[in-house]
Amino acid sequence: MHTETTSKDNGQLNGFTNEAIGDDHLFTSLDTPMKANAFDMSNDEKKKRISILFSEIMDVMGLDLTDDSLQGTPDRVAKMYVEEIFSGLDPKNKPKMALFENKYQYNQMLVEKNITFYSNCEHHFVPIIGKAHIAYKSSGKVIGLSKLNRIVQYYAKRPQVQERLTNQIANELKTVLETEDVAVIIDAKHLCVSSRGIQDDTSTTVTTYYGGEFNNASKILELQNYLNN
Ligand SMILES: [Zn+2]
Repeated sequence: MHTETTSKDNGQLNGFTNEAIGDDHLFTSLDTPMKANAFDMSNDEKKKRISILFSEIMDVMGLDLTDDSLQGTPDRVAKMYVEEIFSGLDPKNKPKMALFENKYQYNQMLVEKNITFYSNCEHHFVPIIGKAHIAYKSSGKVIGLSKLNRIVQYYAKRPQVQERLTNQIANELKTVLETEDVAVIIDAKHLCVSSRGIQDDTSTTVTTYYGGEFNNASKILELQNYLNN
């Protein structure tokens, strides 16, 4: 098997084998690595191709695709990939953001906590299930609360690593809200850690981004107090 990477050295990436990258969840970039021609193919065509390729995987595994229960699986998986769990790869699905003037002059932090999301690990293609907590301090602009949720869902619906997901959400918030004063905390369970590999069912992974005024010990403490209550 041949994998394209930018700094490849004898099948290794920065000295790590593909095996080590997968099990230790190392990643290479804060942008989702996409091909330049990622959207040349229509969604209908993508679904057709994925369905054919997925039925081949099932066939190689020895499954009988003429069975009534399995027959429709390749089409279902293809539709689910393109329209649902990986729909965040397509910039067309990015939520539209309407900004409002901060008429109330509320200039303290706003915290939206426990935003549940489902993503998928890009190393194993099995689920990451977690909660995101978001805080920002208005620069004069505010967005609807449901938009914070939608930003999380958009970036979660990609093959992901948790660090990148955290940063992509933070960057989007900074751009949309026109402020550096943004915090993102993600606490998630990786099924590739619990259902396979090391098979640890209790651990969760926490990643954080503290920008601007949030990058300060007392602000972090204040934020943690809100999250613990
Ligand atoms: Zn994984």
